[in-house]
Amino acid sequence: MLFDPTPKVDRKDFFDREKEIEKLKRLETPIVLVLGLRRTGKSSLIKIVLNELKDYLSIYVDLRKYEEKNTITYRDFLLDLQNEINRLGKKYNKLIDALKNIKGVKILGNEVKFSWSKEERFSFSSLLDSLEQTGKSVIVLDEAQELVKMRGVNLLPSLAYAFDNLKNVKIIISGSEMGMVYDFLKVEDSSSPLYGRAFSTIELKPFDKETAIKFLKKGFEELNISFNKEEEVYETIGGIPGWLTYFGFTYYQTRNYEESVRKTLEYAKKLIYREFENFLKPRYIAKERYYTAMRTISNCASWSEIKRSLEAKEGIEISDSEIYNYLIQLLKHSWIVKEDDKYCPSEPLIGKTFKT
Ligand code: ADP
Ligand code: MG
Repeated sequence: MLFDPTPKVDRKDFFDREKEIEKLKRLETPIVLVLGLRRTGKSSLIKIVLNELKDYLSIYVDLRKYEEKNTITYRDFLLDLQNEINRLGKKYNKLIDALKNIKGVKILGNEVKFSWSKEERFSFSSLLDSLEQTGKSVIVLDEAQELVKMRGVNLLPSLAYAFDNLKNVKIIISGSEMGMVYDFLKVEDSSSPLYGRAFSTIELKPFDKETAIKFLKKGFEELNISFNKEEEVYETIGGIPGWLTYFGFTYYQTRNYEESVRKTLEYAKKLIYREFENFLKPRYIAKERYYTAMRTISNCASWSEIKRSLEAKEGIEISDSEIYNYLIQLLKHSWIVKEDDKYCPSEPLIGKTFKT
């Protein structure tokens, strides 16, 4: 069902992304990027494609759970990989075989255990090599911007090694905070292992008005519900598929337009606040400034308007370089976008959340 509020796993439940599905399925480069704001359908797209790539072994690491943390350790990352591999089950004995004689791997029955201790450390490259031996495989690093918080180990050399040498292994890197994904990959840094590599990139944009209306029409048709306020829904909540899905699902349950709009806005604002608070955790000293900036930007604002609002709040002068830094952070983490010479919320509900 199109309005199912969980990530989709089947293309019949996924509206209007045929081209993106086909492109991702082609896995055109050793590392493929899937980018888009939160709730545009990245995880759904990846799950659908993995389901269709039946002859591939897939390991899916969901890094979203680190959103609330300030750091990720190598141990956390290895445990995620280990748990995913153990979930694959008997079907993947070949992979277990390939891992058998590798440093830092213990096999207990059908379970693998990776060691992160300094003496016996399992390396991510060995996993990639084992996958290469096993056959066609995909590793998914979902919400990979979280990996900038990784301490103790640098994954980039292994990723570059896979990019240059492995034929069977593909890596899908997805992220909601596009600037941060590029920061993690350091593709533009000439001293970085991935410098200059070309990635096939799939960007999921929010639905435009026409597509959003079609999506709602089709979703309600599927449920045999008559509904005629599609356009108003788009004007109120915008084109992020996740919010539209939530609206559709709520209307299906309540059959009440006002209540469904209210609930969707309430739900969206709660999530956006929570995500913003996570963004602020390592920046708590400037917390009030970030809130002030977002409040000003909620209606779109120029550099000088933002500067003025920040200075007015505290009654002191704030240097251009500080303001520049706040805006860069907000841009990289996809809270805002720059349109001509104005800064605007990256989607309408982010604007609504910060409007007073
Ligand atoms: P992301 O991983 O980008 O945050 P998800 O795949 O989790 O996004 O999708 C968010 C929500 O929106 C889910 O409920 C999903 O089912 C729904 N959704 C996203 N895109 C579509 C689409 N094209 N068709 C139907 N539902 C969608
Ligand atoms: Mg996701």
